Amino acid sequence: MAIQDPHVRSYFSACTCLRVMRYSALCVICLQAEKIFPAIWHHEHVSNVILAIKNTESTMNYCSECGASVALAIPAGDNRPRHVCANCGMIHYENPKLVVGAIPEWEDSILLCRRAIEPRYGKWTLPAGFMETRESTAKAASRETLEEASAQIEIGEMFTLIDVPAISQVYIFYRARLLDTDFHPGEESLETALFPESRIPWDDIAFHTVSLTLRHYFADRANGVWRFHTMTLPMAYSSNDV
Ligand SMILES: [Zn+2]
Repeated sequence: MAIQDPHVRSYFSACTCLRVMRYSALCVICLQAEKIFPAIWHHEHVSNVILAIKNTESTMNYCSECGASVALAIPAGDNRPRHVCANCGMIHYENPKLVVGAIPEWEDSILLCRRAIEPRYGKWTLPAGFMETRESTAKAASRETLEEASAQIEIGEMFTLIDVPAISQVYIFYRARLLDTDFHPGEESLETALFPESRIPWDDIAFHTVSLTLRHYFADRANGVWRFHTMTLPMAYSSNDV
């Protein structure tokens, strides 16, 4: 169908069921061919959908169920674009990812790891990483600490929960007690070391979420009151800022 906005016309077509899909003249939901809608009403509808699609981060191309191509479409009863398989009808929902880590404490110091991988190669971080399926957040924090610093910890209280909606991630850090100082760099680390507050390499911390967590940690410790901190980073944040 003809859409007046040149950006819209170049990428999208719309279906009679009022859903929009990419690179196709046939809607994968209702399988009706495209038709022309009243210009004003249609333009408003499509603009809203285009905005939603632009905000979709995914680049999925193929269906994980059957291997056929997927297209972006708004399923019936839904309100945002999903990747839908035109062959088997599978709707592929995508949800935010959890990044979980620990603040391993040893006397007055904290265990940090210097990254041996991108992003932020060479920068310091708390041990943390993406949660795996079929594990708890506490287990994920312990596992990441073991993988990145070969360190054994006893998990304590959840300390920070940081939403980063701009990149669809949620960060969780637990306080943790380092069980001994028999730690050494894992495959993803160049170095592992204990830092008292006075020696934290603030200018070389890999991620904003880690800096925030450490600053709250030392503030609470100074105040003698441990609290649970929740934060939401602004949408202006990107993967370069977390
Ligand atoms: Zn499929």
